[in-house]
Amino acid sequence: MNLTPVKTPLVVQKLFPQYTWEIASDSKEIYLTFDDGPTPEITNWVLDLLKQYDAKATFFCIGKNIEKHPEIFQDIIHDGHTIGNHTYNHIKGWKTSVVDYLENVNKAQQVINTHLNYIAQNQKSSIANLQSPISNLFRPPYGQITPKQGTQLIKLGYKIIMWSVLSIDWDAFVSRKICLNNVITKADSGSIIVFHDSVKASKNMQYALPKVLEYFSKKGYTFKSIE
Ligand SMILES: [Zn+2]
Repeated sequence: MNLTPVKTPLVVQKLFPQYTWEIASDSKEIYLTFDDGPTPEITNWVLDLLKQYDAKATFFCIGKNIEKHPEIFQDIIHDGHTIGNHTYNHIKGWKTSVVDYLENVNKAQQVINTHLNYIAQNQKSSIANLQSPISNLFRPPYGQITPKQGTQLIKLGYKIIMWSVLSIDWDAFVSRKICLNNVITKADSGSIIVFHDSVKASKNMQYALPKVLEYFSKKGYTFKSIE
């Protein structure tokens, strides 16, 4: 049984106001996010689908995975999505010292910056299509981050992005329909929704995501990346 709340309770958001839980919005906008990539085939499957709906999203990438699959990282950028840092190798904040945590995030950031600069330099002609090569978004793996780690990262200029709705796509005990329902029943204007472009989550994600895009598009929503 999964006890993770699908929708982040307001009390949690109020306890940690220094983190971003949703985007204040008057219009019908939804912020899809994808964690743990880039992953061969799965990330590109997501990119193709987003294109069909003219949807933009935010990809919280693992540094190690960017090193393994730089061409997929490049595809994400070329499609005009935003990148966020998700640590170098998906570490747990509560089990890691502040120093080690900052070092790990910094290591991932070096990888991100190196690849963003490389892409920007080699695509001068189409640079207008690229977003700012600077990225300061960070999402802690498992949502685990201690107050000290959070404070230090904010001091270093990171914007910490949590979420308002979890699809719980990664959980093998959650059915595809429940995963879809988690998003459809809880998301609203300004919601930050978590999906995963990972192998583990692919069964649920690949079922729910097309239906989420279809459902909210029909209701007049647009999908935006976090700036
Ligand atoms: Zn993750």
